Amino acid sequence: MKSNKLIVFSGPSGTGKTTLVKYVLNKFSKIQFSISATSRQPRGQEKDSEDYYFLNNEEFKKKVKNQEFIEYEEVYGGFFYGTLKSELNRIWGINKIVIFDIDVVGGINIKEMFPKETLSVFVMPPSVEILRQRLIERGDVSRDEIETRIEKAKKELDFASKFDNIIINTDIKESKKNTFSIIKDFIENE
Ligand code: 5GP
Repeated sequence: MKSNKLIVFSGPSGTGKTTLVKYVLNKFSKIQFSISATSRQPRGQEKDSEDYYFLNNEEFKKKVKNQEFIEYEEVYGGFFYGTLKSELNRIWGINKIVIFDIDVVGGINIKEMFPKETLSVFVMPPSVEILRQRLIERGDVSRDEIETRIEKAKKELDFASKFDNIIINTDIKESKKNTFSIIKDFIENE
């Protein structure tokens, strides 16, 4: 590999970006998932050091102070999420391409930090109403939190044009097809 490459998948919560990132990881062995650190509690089947590095507030703040993050943010009320420098080095160290499932501001920050090396993809819902419906069906967050996420989503949609590619996820099969060709082009174009 000639350079250290990065792929960012961003978009409002519930658009299907996690599904698409998992699809990419299944299809391309050259790509590895960037495990973020978070101060929120694990949900459902989530495992430490697989889905996230789960840290308490103190641990998270200590790493911020030690400048161990390339980016971090308070994504939802009181909870922090961030990408550790050590995570990028771990993945680049084994000659793989990093893929992020990250919020919109974090995604834009990564693209600004590594403009030439990053492919950024914005995953968009067909409409805000469909997004709300999907979050309700997913059933992993409360109704209050759904409304918080919808409000955030409305603001995030304004940033779509800052990304290299936009996938409107109406039909997941179609979105996977689009994703495949975007990623293939990027990987082959080294
Ligand atoms: P969740 O709590 O649903 O796992 O994630 C909430 C939001 O945080 C999602 O939009 C997710 O993409 C985002 N996120 C996850 N990791 C990071 C990170 O390292 N940095 C930033 N900025 N956002 C993240």
